[in-house]
Amino acid sequence: MATAFGSLLRECPLLLPQNREKSVYEGFVTAQGTDFHIRILLPLDLQLKNARIQCSWQLKKVLGGYQQILKKRLQHSLDLVSFMVELKTVLEVALKNTRELQSSTLPPPQHYSSLIRDIEALGWDKVVFVDPSFRTIKLKAEDSCGRHHQITLKLNPKYPAEPPDCLVDLPGQFAVSADAQSSLLSIHRQFLAVLESLKAFWNALDEIDEKTWVLEPEKPTRSATMRRIAIGNNISINLEVDPRHPTMPPECFFLGPDHVVNPLKIKLNSNIHMWDPEVSLLQNLKEVLEMDFPSRETLEKSDFSMDCGICYAYRLDGAIPDQVCDDSRCGQPFHQACLYEWLRGLPSSRQSFNVIFGECPYCNKQITLKMSMKKA
Ligand SMILES: [Zn+2]
Ligand SMILES: [Zn+2]
Repeated sequence: MATAFGSLLRECPLLLPQNREKSVYEGFVTAQGTDFHIRILLPLDLQLKNARIQCSWQLKKVLGGYQQILKKRLQHSLDLVSFMVELKTVLEVALKNTRELQSSTLPPPQHYSSLIRDIEALGWDKVVFVDPSFRTIKLKAEDSCGRHHQITLKLNPKYPAEPPDCLVDLPGQFAVSADAQSSLLSIHRQFLAVLESLKAFWNALDEIDEKTWVLEPEKPTRSATMRRIAIGNNISINLEVDPRHPTMPPECFFLGPDHVVNPLKIKLNSNIHMWDPEVSLLQNLKEVLEMDFPSRETLEKSDFSMDCGICYAYRLDGAIPDQVCDDSRCGQPFHQACLYEWLRGLPSSRQSFNVIFGECPYCNKQITLKMSMKKA
C-alpha cells in the first residue's frame, strides 16, 4: 500500500486521502496546465468499480461525453493509481478536443470587432450580403465600363492571418495574393484590378452577345469564354476566346453542312492575315469571313435553333442538335446521340473507326456521323 500511495503521489501529487480508511480522496487533477477539483469516494471494501467520483462543474463540463468511457475504465482499473493515469489521459484528449472545437466554431470576440472595422474601411455600400456568423461576405464591384460584378468571400476564424476563399464569376481563378490578406479593402482593390485586366475580353464578348444570335451558352456568364454564334439555318461558328488575348484570333470551328462550312473554313484560313488587333473581335470575324452575322433586329432565335429531326427537341441532356444533313435541300439537324441510335438501327449503315455512314432519316441521302471522342 505504501508503494501504491507513493506512485499516486507521483501521478497526482495534489490528490490526498482524507481519512484513515483511505476511502475518500480529495484534491486536484492537473491536465494542460489547469487544476481540476476532484473527490473520489471508495466503498468500504475499497473496490474501485463501485467508487463514486465527484467533479467540479468545470471538470464535469470537459468530461461531458466521456462518462461511459470513464465508467468502464473505473471497472477495469487495477487500482486508484492506474485509474488516475487513465483519467488524466481522457482529460487531456477531452481538453484538446474542446479547445479545437472552440477555435473552429467560435473565433475570439476581437475577430468580429476587427472584421467590422475592416468592413467600415471598405465601406458598407460595397457589401451585398453578410451572414449572421460573418463567415460569408459578398462584395460588389463596378468596373470602369459600368459592368457589375460580385465576389463572395468565405472567411475562416483565422482570417486575416489566413486568406479567405474567393468565389468569383471570372474566367480563371482568383486567389488573394499574400500581401493583400490583411484587409477586405485590399482584397476588393485586387478584385477591381483583375476586373480591369479583363475589360477588353468582356468588351469583345458583350458586342457579340448584343449584336449576334448566340446559341450557346444559353445565358453566358462573365466566366464563359466560349460562344456559339448563328451564321444561318443550322450553321454556326464556335469561338473560344482567350481572356488574356481577346483581340487575337480566337479558336474557331464551324458546325453545319459541309457545302456551307467548307467555303467558310477556306476564307478563315486565307484571310487570317487581315486580322487587326486594333479592331473588335466581331468586326474582325466579319472581315475575315467576308460575311455579316444574322442580326438580332431582323431574325428570331428560333430561326437558327431548329429542333432535332429525330427527338423533336432542341436540348437533349444539355446538347443541341449539331449534326446536320449535308444535302443542301434537306439540311435537317440532329443530336449526335439521336443520329447514332438511328443509324445503328439501320442495316444499311456501316462504321469505319469513329465515323458512321448511313442514310438521312429525312431525305435518304448519305449522311456521315463523326463521333466525338467521348461517345466513340
Ligand atoms: Zn434528338
Ligand atoms: Zn437529309
